[in-house]
Amino acid sequence: MHTLKMNTINNNQLIFLGTAGGRFSVFNQIRKSGGIWFKLNNRLFAIDPGPGALIESIKRGLFPNRLSGIFLSHRHLDHCADINSIIESMTEGGHKRRGCIIAPKAATDEDPVILNYNRNNFKLINTAENSLYEIEGVKIDTKMKHKHTTETYGAVFSFENHSFAYIPDTKYFEDLAHSYQSDVVIANVVFCKEKKGFMHLNSNDIYKFLEIFKPKKMIMTHFGLSFLNKKPWEIAREITKKTAVDVVAAYDGMVVDI
Ligand SMILES: [Zn+2]
Repeated sequence: MHTLKMNTINNNQLIFLGTAGGRFSVFNQIRKSGGIWFKLNNRLFAIDPGPGALIESIKRGLFPNRLSGIFLSHRHLDHCADINSIIESMTEGGHKRRGCIIAPKAATDEDPVILNYNRNNFKLINTAENSLYEIEGVKIDTKMKHKHTTETYGAVFSFENHSFAYIPDTKYFEDLAHSYQSDVVIANVVFCKEKKGFMHLNSNDIYKFLEIFKPKKMIMTHFGLSFLNKKPWEIAREITKKTAVDVVAAYDGMVVDI
């Protein structure tokens, strides 16, 4: 008989189902790429379900048919490749109308990554800048449009006094540190050093961020291959030493209290 496992995260926790970023580490699966899932107000949410999100979530006892919502930051494949599988599972093959998806218009209209046939089975909201959404009590506070190659938004997710900020792909700009203020801040840091011509954060940008705002915990994730080769956990330790902020490099399966 098939037995269902219990969820492996508790309320007020998040889990990294993947920590790979950029083409090489994602599409060679150097690290996994299932996105970040979290529970607030006892509701389950998924952020950026990249390649492998369905397999990784179920493997860890996180069943998409328990999802209240999905937040998609942007339409790049390392963030959205599994979104249709997750929707199919969330809506039980289209038999149940369930869940809410917040995604930019560029991902739903311009060059859609969500198939049409299942769209009536969930509530779709197109992300707007600096807007506050509420899904089953959980607040999703979006910030300004990011400097990336397609329409991209991050948000601060909160319920009562539990919250975290998610900074998806972007080139660094000062407003990031003024906007994403929360005890726990997650940033997609693809590179170790600046790479000209790429709209991504690198680990030196974390110093700039921490000069303006110091969270209790800063988590780097979404590592490109060149950063992984430089051992991001060692870079994180170095930043902690210099800034006195608890900076960590995420790993696949890492669970964090929020
Ligand atoms: Zn991207």
